[in-house]
Amino acid sequence: MIMKIIITRKKIKNLILKINDNSEILISAPYYVSEVYINNFIKSKEDWIKKQLEVIKNKNNNNNLSYNNGEEFIFLGKKYNIISDISLISKCFIQNNNFYILSPDNLFNTKHKIVQDFIIKNLDFIFSDICSKLSQKVGLFPKSIKIRDMKSRWGSCNIKTKNITLNYRLYLKPIEAIEYVILHEICHLLYPHHQKSFWDFVAKFMPDYKIRKKILNKS
Ligand SMILES: [Zn+2]
Repeated sequence: MIMKIIITRKKIKNLILKINDNSEILISAPYYVSEVYINNFIKSKEDWIKKQLEVIKNKNNNNNLSYNNGEEFIFLGKKYNIISDISLISKCFIQNNNFYILSPDNLFNTKHKIVQDFIIKNLDFIFSDICSKLSQKVGLFPKSIKIRDMKSRWGSCNIKTKNITLNYRLYLKPIEAIEYVILHEICHLLYPHHQKSFWDFVAKFMPDYKIRKKILNKS
């Protein structure tokens, strides 16, 4: 098993081991500890690390893909089989249960870029479609929607500028969960807090919002 290990020296007393969602093994080590010691430490934790890496691999986040045939690609909460092929035209499309990646070469970076373009193009369309429908329903209209890769939030609403920002990673989630996030942010245009009045307002337009919220935060 190839492990990507990143060692950072810090003013600490003990070794700290962490694994992030990209399967990188992060070691924080005191300045005075030798590399041999660190390597032995990693070796002693190998079984645990392997288990964690397996868990991350099975997480529904597409993070560990190489875009090769036989892998699974998650899009809008559904799993598709990746079919990768060489083609003069770069493109991705979904047909039946398959996610096709047509790329001029078989390199990860080329395919990754093609897949990112596919995701952004589709998200742009999906977000603005859902947003315009929900805005009409609620009677509140954001000025713009931005897509960002955010670490800890699914969406945010700037009440002053009336801009809504949505997390790029929502492309992994089912439509009903995306609808919930967008409605949530639209409702913030009138209620800039999470008090009861806000949730009552959300529920008025989406009585099943609690179920959708659970779907959003699953895995
Ligand atoms: Zn909120």
